[in-house]
Order: sequence, then structure tokens, then C-alpha cells
Amino acid sequence: MGLSIVLTHDVDSVRKPISHVLRVWRRFRTVDLIKHLLHLTNLYNNIEDLMRIEDSCGVRSTIFFPVSLFPIEEVLDSVRILQRGGWEIGLHVVIEPIQTVALVRQQYDLFTFVTGVKPLGVRSHYLIFRRELVPVYRELGIVYDSTLRVEESKSFDPFSLEDLIELPIAVMDADLFGRYRLSEEVALRYIYRRIEEAKDVGAKYFTILFHQESLRMRGGRIYSRLVKELSQRFSVVRCIDVVKEVRGYVK
Ligand SMILES: [Zn+2]
Repeated sequence: MGLSIVLTHDVDSVRKPISHVLRVWRRFRTVDLIKHLLHLTNLYNNIEDLMRIEDSCGVRSTIFFPVSLFPIEEVLDSVRILQRGGWEIGLHVVIEPIQTVALVRQQYDLFTFVTGVKPLGVRSHYLIFRRELVPVYRELGIVYDSTLRVEESKSFDPFSLEDLIELPIAVMDADLFGRYRLSEEVALRYIYRRIEEAKDVGAKYFTILFHQESLRMRGGRIYSRLVKELSQRFSVVRCIDVVKEVRGYVK
């Protein structure tokens, strides 16, 4: 079996105040900016674009929605359309410094109550990983987490954390374009080099995280090119497909 690409997205926001847009206008194409300012589109809600891009390549991804970063009811229609279309909905957990466990339980409960979705996977906002949450997730019926980076877990492939499956993140858009400010060309080359590295060590999976709100920003907009190329070269799967494949014999 060759390498499979696992596509994932976090939904940190679906809109920003005009003052923010005007401050970061350089991130966007002029035409997109004008459409946003005329309220014809919303630069920060690219869920439809995401569906169109992936659908045109015949692939599906996992999308982690939070319940406490913006009112989840604003995206209820999107959640339903995504789910009906075969996308996987996960929970984007926000780890609070106090009452951590109680608030995680609350987020799961409210997310399930409002959306009707029982997520099987979680990813933490800011990729904050807390070991003591592993039994809490299991108790809630969560079967996998995808929060650790490959650099930390030293594995591209999923592994067991007690009864939970951890699916490490190989590359994230916010690292490439936010933290290291790479150009789009260098970022693409870097992603392909990382994929070659994964193949060289015999990895079976390579997990990519692109935030949905960045799909029209400088950087994030390489996503459509990336998916097009990757879907021609590799099998592309959702997190839950990986879990189904590895469950039972993951170490
Ligand atoms: Zn986040």
C-alpha cells in the first residue's frame, strides 16, 4: 500500500470585523477584497469553496468545527451540507486553562446537541495537547485525536495513546505562512519534500491541515493547486478512514 494523504481543516472563524480586514488587506487579491467590502462574499467563510475544490478532485476531508469560537448556529447549514456530502465533521476543542475537563465535556455536549453530530475525532485549538484529556475523550466516545505534530510524535502514522488513536499533523498552513512566512512556491516545495520524507521512512499516512478561513489568503490559496496535484498522485482520505483502516492493529 502506498502513501495516503489525509486532508483536514480547522474552522477557527467564519467572519472578521471590517477593521481587521482593512488592516490585513495585503493578504488578499484586490478582486476578492472588493467583493468582500461590497458584501458579495465573505473572505473568511470558504466552506463552499472548499467543498467545490475537493469535490472537483473527487476527494473528501475532515473538518473540525469549534463550538465556542463563534456561534455554531451560524454554520449549521454548512455542517449539514458537508455531512450529507460525505465530509467528516470533527470537534475543534478549545482547551481552557481552568475547569479544563468540565469545559471539554460541555463543548462536546453542546456541539452534539446543536448540530446533531456525534464527532468521533477531535483536534485542539492552537494544537494544545493535554494527556489528561485522553480518558475524557474515550468516555465521550471519541476514538481519535489529531493534535500532535509529526515533529513531536516522531511518526507520520497513527499510534495509540491508551485507547485513543493519535493521528499526527505533518504540515499546517499556519506554520508555513504565519510562523515562517514562506512564499507559496517554497511552501509547496517544502510540502512535497516532507511527503518524500514520509515515503522514505515507509509511512502510510501524511496528514495536512489547512484552515478554511485562509483559502483566499496569500499562502492558503495554494490549497486548490495542492489538492489537485495530490489527488492525482495519491489516495486521499479523511481521518475516520484512517482510523477504520488501522483500528485493531495500531500499536
Ligand atoms: Zn484552531
